[in-house]
Amino acid sequence: MKFNSYASGSTGNLYELTDSHTSIIIECGVSYKELQRLLPKAPSDYDACVFSHHHGDHFNLMTASQLRKRGLLVENGTYFSPARNVGTIQIKSFGVQHDITNHGYIFRGHDGETCVFLIDCFYSPVTFSFSPTIIAIEANYARDLMREGDSINDRLFASHMSIDQCIETLKAWDLSKTREIHLLHLSDDRSDEARFVREVQQATGIPTTAAPSYRRAGR
Ligand SMILES: [Zn+2]
Repeated sequence: MKFNSYASGSTGNLYELTDSHTSIIIECGVSYKELQRLLPKAPSDYDACVFSHHHGDHFNLMTASQLRKRGLLVENGTYFSPARNVGTIQIKSFGVQHDITNHGYIFRGHDGETCVFLIDCFYSPVTFSFSPTIIAIEANYARDLMREGDSINDRLFASHMSIDQCIETLKAWDLSKTREIHLLHLSDDRSDEARFVREVQQATGIPTTAAPSYRRAGR
């Protein structure tokens, strides 16, 4: 099972999960043209698009309708509770804490590998009865990088995950079989990519990368 990040952050999110038989787009928070530019293969070559919640940086209505026109299943977490199979991948959602209804996902491949995906969530009490092979989790901001009195601070505290909370969350999970950690949705000016990767790697001992921030074509 492979997880790839093509766009991440508050301006747009686009990820991909594949095994040898099935390909799934996770989030469609960019225009259809941008989705075509960023993905390594044609949208019609994917089996489904699952998205976490109805915020524009995760779900673009026009993009979703273009994907549906090309035969893809496009659904949010309510559809995947209880679990459903898309091709060879079993998909199961779980509710997470954001400022609107939002879901995290557990993907299980036919080879037994698993991926946990968790984004736009300030806190997750969810633990798992298995050790995820791949973890994709938000690390939005560090408190010491926030400007005091900034009006966005209160919203972030109640909707997005800090690097400290991300590490606390990871430590509560069984990482014995975890191969890689992907940090998602880093804030442009309240995060430090190199530091976040280092801190997570030090805390977990697992190879960690940060998803690339979304840069629109021509910007
Ligand atoms: Zn959101």
